[in-house]
Amino acid sequence: MSAIKIDQGADGVVLATMDLAGKPMNVIDAEMAGALAALVEALESNASITGLILASGKKDFFAGADVDQLWALETAEQGFEASMHFKSWLRRLEQAGKPVVAAIHGRCLGGGLEIAMACHHRIVLDDGKACLGLPEVKLGLLPGGGGTQRLPRLVGMQQALQWMGEGTEVRAAQALSSGLVQALAKTPEDMLAQARAWIAAHPKPQQPWDAPKFCYPGGDSRSPATAQLMAIAPSMASAKSWGNYPAITHIMSSVFEGGLVDFDTALQIESRYFAACVVSPESRNLIGTLWYQLNAIKKGASRPQGVPVSKVNKLGILGAGMMGAGIAYVAAKAGVEVVLLDTTQALADKGKAYSQGVLDKAVKKGYRSPEQREAQLARIQATTDYAALADCQLVIEAVFEDREVKAQVTQLAEAQLAADAVFASNTSTLPITGLAKASARPDRFIGLHFFSPVDKMPLVEIIVGEQTSDETLAKGFDFVQQIGQTPIVVNDSRGFYTSRVFATYVMEGLAMLKEGVHPRSIEVAGLQAGMPMPPLALQDEVSLSLGVHVADQTRKDMAAAGQRYEAHPGEPVLRQMCEMGRIGKKAGRGFYDWPEDGQGEKRLWPGLQDLFPLADEQPDQQEIIERLLYAQANEAARCLEEGVLRSVADGNVGSILGWGFAPFFGGALQFINTIGPAHFVQRSRQLAQAHGKRFKPAANIVDLARRGIFFDQGGA
Ligand code: NAD
Repeated sequence: MSAIKIDQGADGVVLATMDLAGKPMNVIDAEMAGALAALVEALESNASITGLILASGKKDFFAGADVDQLWALETAEQGFEASMHFKSWLRRLEQAGKPVVAAIHGRCLGGGLEIAMACHHRIVLDDGKACLGLPEVKLGLLPGGGGTQRLPRLVGMQQALQWMGEGTEVRAAQALSSGLVQALAKTPEDMLAQARAWIAAHPKPQQPWDAPKFCYPGGDSRSPATAQLMAIAPSMASAKSWGNYPAITHIMSSVFEGGLVDFDTALQIESRYFAACVVSPESRNLIGTLWYQLNAIKKGASRPQGVPVSKVNKLGILGAGMMGAGIAYVAAKAGVEVVLLDTTQALADKGKAYSQGVLDKAVKKGYRSPEQREAQLARIQATTDYAALADCQLVIEAVFEDREVKAQVTQLAEAQLAADAVFASNTSTLPITGLAKASARPDRFIGLHFFSPVDKMPLVEIIVGEQTSDETLAKGFDFVQQIGQTPIVVNDSRGFYTSRVFATYVMEGLAMLKEGVHPRSIEVAGLQAGMPMPPLALQDEVSLSLGVHVADQTRKDMAAAGQRYEAHPGEPVLRQMCEMGRIGKKAGRGFYDWPEDGQGEKRLWPGLQDLFPLADEQPDQQEIIERLLYAQANEAARCLEEGVLRSVADGNVGSILGWGFAPFFGGALQFINTIGPAHFVQRSRQLAQAHGKRFKPAANIVDLARRGIFFDQGGA
């Protein structure tokens, strides 16, 4: 069965409906590419065809390229050929001498938008679901189907660079006002009627870029405005990416160089840059982790097999503070009834008011209707009454980080719950097995560690206690997916996986400060390493006093268990700063002086240089970067070795979605693959000798190096 259904009307116009069998979305796989080629040949050779409407039989117009096909490209030559081959059909489509209209509904992304831009006219169904964009950069690629050439010729270079550089997806109204599409339709029927009318009125259309006097909107590469853009765009891009994402540079080069030559040469230039991207380690890492490993997780790789899929209709949340309020918002958004409980009605109401605030903004921006807002708010019941929890299938506690308080609410809630209901803790530091001691049924006790702010952070770290049953884990996993978050599953441990590894990044920054490394060098190194925030600023955000509190608690717990506590060399820095009242952003004073009104710039506190005098000899910047990355990767490998991590995929995906580990390295474990385990081991040993045994390479990395193999890298 062809991927495109053909329906020719009496007027000769063909309605071609793209509908790839057996797939939820249209993608450019071999079948679709073959069907498109056949369609173009028919358009060229069949005189009875007077025009073409390209539409989709799926929920969305088109998802983009087939990632398996991209992944299979092993050399730059193959990348170049594949890109040129696909484009040659699009070029023939727009030069066949007959009108072609794209009738777009839903999402129209990547290669799908490139197909649409090769049509002479684009109409979008304006039903609130349309969304158009070229998101290739997110996988370390550039649009290689003509996107870097057609988009700037439609919307101007500056707008195109911004959209392609950030992978922006635009809504119908912006697509129209920017010139990306030419018309909006109210209904599918209206869209088809408009398409037919346009075809009837334009029997011999020509693409703007094929017209002899074509001008880019806003000017081409020779215009003074673009000269200015060319001067500043690279520095603006590298200020954000620190040169870690070659695809961004290649997109710029393709756009600017393509603006100096004729359209067909420009398409060749684009393919050369596409080829460079497709074989880059950055792209392989991004695709391996954020496509293959993430999809494996979403398909339930870490979920126990054989347990039927469950659904939560009613959720209880204990504690309506920052986390409880956020969890209530995402759950109610996903259609779950929520009981939001706190010690007073005023506190519970305040937690619900968080949802009101977010929804009011969404309504104002047009992302949500007032009716949707009211329906979502109606699903949240703010209360102080434990009896309201009676028919909840799941309760998540998000009360203070205090064992006593958590034990008390666990017992109060469990007294109301059905025997098969699950109780979860959102603790960020307290081991789950210990908290489960307060529970009458520890097999139904689990950790669901959300991140802040909950509505922006996609990850939930599921922590399995010693007695947590497979059924409970499966229920926790299903709930996380039900509310649209990404679950990783880890075994119980102090700090679990994410907090434990994340802490090594921040603490390494603090240790270097103590050694006399210039604080600015440390902060810049964090960003150069690809982390979203530098270590000292991050510690200020999290609060230094919390760091001291966690260290004290750990010391106490380990002493009670008869274990020896060894302080990280960065720990004294936390204590010294806290003693001076410099406890972080919430006090306006930490490693930085924070602006009082929250508006101005934060500045590194000048007193740091008196407290931690600069060493006479400053380390090489690369060494600072390496220390920040190696510390995390080594700890992640230890988590895998100790069985805290259950899979490499959870480790990589968790590190990127949880604390923003440099995505172009593909996550904390893939970083070791990228460096090469043998080199990692050798460099770690040098770092251990110079800076302490925390850098001693984990035994599983040494084993990889010895055997010449890698951690699982994802991929088809
Ligand atoms: P918070 O102080 O903002 O909120 C805690 C809420 O619990 C308050 O509204 C408080 O009134 C309520 N509460 C206290 N005792 C209660 C009781 N006996 N019964 C009912 N409600 C009670 O704290 P938070 O930042 O939302 O953190 C909550 C939990 O989530 C903690 O365990 C914390 O470690 C964890 N956590 C926090 C973050 C974060 O970034 N803040 C991230 C992940 C996990």
